[in-house]
Amino acid sequence: PVILGIESSCDETSASVCVDGEILSNVIANQTIHEAYGGVVPELASRVHQQNIVPAVQQALLNAKVNKNDIDAVAFTRGPGLLGSLLVGVSFAKAFALAKNLPLIDINHMQAHILAHFIGDHKPTFPFLCLTVSGGHTQIVLVKDHFDMEIIGQTLDDAAGEAMDKTSKILGLPYPGGPLIDKHARSGNPDAYKFPEPQIPGYNFSFSGVKTAILYFIRDNVAKNPNFIQENLSDICASVEKRIATILLNKLKRAAEEYGIKDIALAGGVSANTGLREGLTHLCAEKGWNCFIPKFEYCTDNAAMIAIAGYYKYLKGEFVGQDVAPLARMPFG
Ligand code: ATP
Ligand code: MG
Ligand code: FE
Repeated sequence: PVILGIESSCDETSASVCVDGEILSNVIANQTIHEAYGGVVPELASRVHQQNIVPAVQQALLNAKVNKNDIDAVAFTRGPGLLGSLLVGVSFAKAFALAKNLPLIDINHMQAHILAHFIGDHKPTFPFLCLTVSGGHTQIVLVKDHFDMEIIGQTLDDAAGEAMDKTSKILGLPYPGGPLIDKHARSGNPDAYKFPEPQIPGYNFSFSGVKTAILYFIRDNVAKNPNFIQENLSDICASVEKRIATILLNKLKRAAEEYGIKDIALAGGVSANTGLREGLTHLCAEKGWNCFIPKFEYCTDNAAMIAIAGYYKYLKGEFVGQDVAPLARMPFG
């Protein structure tokens, strides 16, 4: 089947074509307008989605060399995400399906981040564990089947990506800060500064305490030396990155040991982080686990993950009607 995938949950407008489980195109229109505001402005995001959605789909069809009359189904992100942003993608998908008389497939964005591992040949085997770390979520997920997933641990407050972005804001770096922390961390000493590791029961996480510790640490040092940030930027970034990565990996390691699972995956925007990728690679090598880390283009928001998820739902014959509505919050299953 030929699946058109649409993603518009946050600030990326994306369209992708998947043919028989193979991704032939993945067009992502990033929104730069939010940089000036230090974070995503929902109302602006939905307006830019409206401008970008038709050109993104046209480009995705062009890149895939697929005619719009050859599409068999339209898969779209139903949630979770910003309601105004989701509405644009959902409305486009519904209109397209109505015009072409095609079935609609609704996709959970967080499941799609995980299902990005089914793009290409290096696929994990069920059951596997996935650490999903993004701008809005931090989850350890037990993946029993494509759409049978159980969240065994999650953050009680901030997401890991939020901790990255807020730290970078404290450091005076532009939004989104995660990639910049990564960049500066490469030339820094990860052991230069020590930040606390929260003691949270089970497989859950908390990042608000870490964020506050970083804030106080910067504030106190800047009070003593106004140039503290500029003089030590790479060491600060490397130390922050290491702490966030070790918090994540320590929990993931325990979960894998206690569940006896050997296929370990990483997903979501923060899985683009170099320190986290290297950390998981080392951990898996040490434990003899199989490590699954997505290609960069499939870490942050993209429609290829929606299209591949749509492919697996198409095979199951699971479609939704024209009365489908977006869900800002959307649980698994
Ligand atoms: P969600 O998936 O929870 O709805 P989202 O879609 O906004 O949230 P993604 O696009 O999956 O999130 O990920 C964006 C997050 O990833 C941002 O917080 C960003 O800072 C972070 N990020 C991206 N690249 C890197 C990197 N190299 N290092 C650290 N963080 C990164
Ligand atoms: Mg984004
Ligand atoms: Fe996402």
